[in-house]
Amino acid sequence: MSESYELRCRECGKTWGNAPRSFCEDCFSPLEVTYDYDSLKKKVRREDLTGRTFNMWRYAELLPVPEDFAAPNAVGGTPLVRSQKLRTQWGIRELYFKNDAVCFPSLSFKDRVVGTALVAARRFGFLTVGCSSTGNLANAVAAQSAQQGFEACVFIPADLEPAKVLNTAVYGARIVRISGNYDHVNRLCAQIADRFKWGLVNVNLRPYYSEGSKTHGYEIAEQLGWRLPDNVVVPMAGGSLITKIAKAFKELVTLGWVEAKPVKFFGAQATGCSPISDGVKRNLARFEPQKPNTIARSLAIGNPADGPFAMKLIRESGGWAEDVSDPEIVDAIKLLAETEGIFTETAGGVTTGVTQKLILQGRIAADETTVVCITGNGLKTTDAIASEFPVTEAIAPRLDAFEAYLDSQFSAPATAGAK
Ligand SMILES: *Cc1c(COP(=O)(O)O)cnc(C)c1O
Ligand SMILES: [Zn+2]
Repeated sequence: MSESYELRCRECGKTWGNAPRSFCEDCFSPLEVTYDYDSLKKKVRREDLTGRTFNMWRYAELLPVPEDFAAPNAVGGTPLVRSQKLRTQWGIRELYFKNDAVCFPSLSFKDRVVGTALVAARRFGFLTVGCSSTGNLANAVAAQSAQQGFEACVFIPADLEPAKVLNTAVYGARIVRISGNYDHVNRLCAQIADRFKWGLVNVNLRPYYSEGSKTHGYEIAEQLGWRLPDNVVVPMAGGSLITKIAKAFKELVTLGWVEAKPVKFFGAQATGCSPISDGVKRNLARFEPQKPNTIARSLAIGNPADGPFAMKLIRESGGWAEDVSDPEIVDAIKLLAETEGIFTETAGGVTTGVTQKLILQGRIAADETTVVCITGNGLKTTDAIASEFPVTEAIAPRLDAFEAYLDSQFSAPATAGAK
């Protein structure tokens, strides 16, 4: 290949150069970006990263971006939070939360995929970009398009959370609400990408888009001191992120940046939309598409494009997949906030709830290192938990009013301890 990366068919292996396309025209299988790892080894060493800012672009050589690439923004570089309380509560030795709830600029890991997709959009000369979205992707496309001067037109299911719609509108993006679920929206977008010369990040730019997810995995390895964890728990919508974290780990081993070691991949879904976890649990050869019905709207994809690859990865790695109900999602959001001080959206409730379940099932061992991927921010899905926290009565701005308030809250008098 003339460049260090190009598209290759995941089934038949035919290469297609670099172009806005996502399917092999010979066998209709999905394309992915492949790299010349031998030349990459010579081009970049782990030590070269030392002086670079901690964001996703520090791994530029491992991403599908041109040689003369200049980072457009500071996406990624999120904290890996070492757990104290949940670690003890769950009785496991090493537990971390990779916190993309604070990803720049739009507070979800989707900022990473939009990062690489817009580099491709620029390269292919698109002026208008867009996506089919369950919410977070629309936020990320809108924010980065505004910054980089693309026209944005995003397509969403009509029933999305108001906060996610507002978080798209504020950047000046055109929003098209579709009466239907994500799978309807996505089918329409495939036709739109054909008809209009638009770069739809997760449709005709999908191979470039999904590479951005690898940086979530690179950061985990680097933040663990350039080593791989034993277990990762990853939320699944289309099933792309989980496979790209695996690709990232594999690449780091190929490049000699981390030592090879088996990593078990655990997938997390909401029970109300769990085609992948259901397929794993029932040991199906192929998942059965579902009609989503869950508060975890960002994961509500009933016919996941990367579902087969996610199932294969989970099985071959020796991991597992699980799902949690809507009430369990709410409990897990509260648990993560109360113990680790991280406020995540419903997707993070899914991941946290599933992690707890897997530990109870004995599938995640106590003496191993486990990383839980938190992918979105709780401020985006406040509707899901608002009823848990009823608004309290206001009191008068006087000390006696506060004392009376305390008396009403506790059986012991408020002044009992004060001398
Ligand atoms: C999109 C999304 C995911 C899952 O991504 P896939 O790569 O489609 O599996 C997980 N968490 C959040 C918050 C998301 O928005
Ligand atoms: Zn093919």
